[in-house]
Amino acid sequence: MRLPHPLIAGGGPAGSAIAILLARGGARPMLIERTREAHDVVCGGFLGADAIALLGRLGIDVALLGAHPIHRIRVVAGGREMETHLPFAAAGLSRRTLDATMIGMAAREGAAVERGVTVRAIDLAARRLDLADGTVLESDRLFIATGKHDVRGGGRPVDAPGSDPAIGFRIAITPSPALTTALTGVIELHLFRHGYAGLLLQEDGNANLCLSIAQSRLRDAGGRPETLIPSLGDAPRLGERLDMAVSTGSWSSIARIAYGWRQQTGVDGIFRLGDQAAVIASLAGDGIAIALASACRASAACLANGPQGALDFQHGFSRHVRRPLALAGLLRGAGENGRAAGPLIALLGHCPGLVRLAASATRVGSR
Ligand SMILES: Cc1cc2nc3c(=O)[nH]c(=O)nc-3n(C[C@H](O)[C@H](O)[C@H](O)COP(=O)(O)OP(=O)(O)OC[C@H]3O[C@@H](n4cnc5c(N)ncnc54)[C@H](O)[C@@H]3O)c2cc1C
Repeated sequence: MRLPHPLIAGGGPAGSAIAILLARGGARPMLIERTREAHDVVCGGFLGADAIALLGRLGIDVALLGAHPIHRIRVVAGGREMETHLPFAAAGLSRRTLDATMIGMAAREGAAVERGVTVRAIDLAARRLDLADGTVLESDRLFIATGKHDVRGGGRPVDAPGSDPAIGFRIAITPSPALTTALTGVIELHLFRHGYAGLLLQEDGNANLCLSIAQSRLRDAGGRPETLIPSLGDAPRLGERLDMAVSTGSWSSIARIAYGWRQQTGVDGIFRLGDQAAVIASLAGDGIAIALASACRASAACLANGPQGALDFQHGFSRHVRRPLALAGLLRGAGENGRAAGPLIALLGHCPGLVRLAASATRVGSR
């Protein structure tokens, strides 16, 4: 079926944001999302100032959603820790709440939202989506917002053979009163060899623990997150945090994260958004802002120039995110270098301004 309206694959932050903006612009988009209802995904749930501002532009006030305010950052590595204030106000919000709020807003603004429908294949040349139920949809404006998940025919380049891609894990923690006190107002980062973990409180009072680790180190630890954390001899404080949990949920995971990847070229009518446009090292906690910023820029390009807006959008967005992606990659390299972690904390303890500089420099911004 050929649609006269824009077609969006994926209803995470990027897909829902573009649906909201196109609907407000009168373009009546259709959004295809494979999940039936919003749920928590592998994500740290950290919202920096740029993500909060971009959500505000959409009309979403994270404080009204109960997001946990964050003003400080604590970095723990090699048995040492340092803490300083962030250069901006941030927040912790579960992806379940964020995603449900955004996709609900898209539907209310007039987007046709189809949930529980999976895109099985994408034909980029024909601008066509093949759905799992056999339906075929075509449009001259196709928005690919499937995030970390590549769809057959529309995927991003795979890792070079022999590389050691990162795997992400997430678990919800019901914190003890002592853990709640320790995490109030704080994003806590644990650095260890070939990985890191982020821990924060969310709107429901639960803590969100998210970690990223090289496949090789996970394999050495038995291949499962349950065995990984106790075996991380260079991150003893992380195990102590888990011991402070009253209870934990179950682990979810995502494999082969394409950190540093950017879509640098464009094609008329194909707009890649969010993680399908650029993947910042998750240590920086700015992927949601990138998803939102890509949607803002793509909607402006599409509403002004139609399918022809895609080329300039993709080039321009790739340039826009180049610096924060590169800096976040450097920070990831330093943070995940086991030998450097201890000296790094000592340095940051003496110069906490460096942490604030890094936090600012890895923001994609709210334009
Ligand atoms: C370990 C880790 C920690 C992170 N922590 C943070 C953080 O604290 N703060 C931050 O800002 N960013 C963080 N990120 C990055 C952030 O999660 C992503 O950048 C962000 O989710 C990208 O949004 P998106 O909309 O592009 O994709 P996603 O959030 O992945 O959404 C994609 C949507 O598409 C749907 N979909 C996928 N395939 C199909 C299909 N075939 N058919 C139909 N629908 C489909 C999915 O169900 C999903 O709803 C983290 C990432 C990792 C890996």
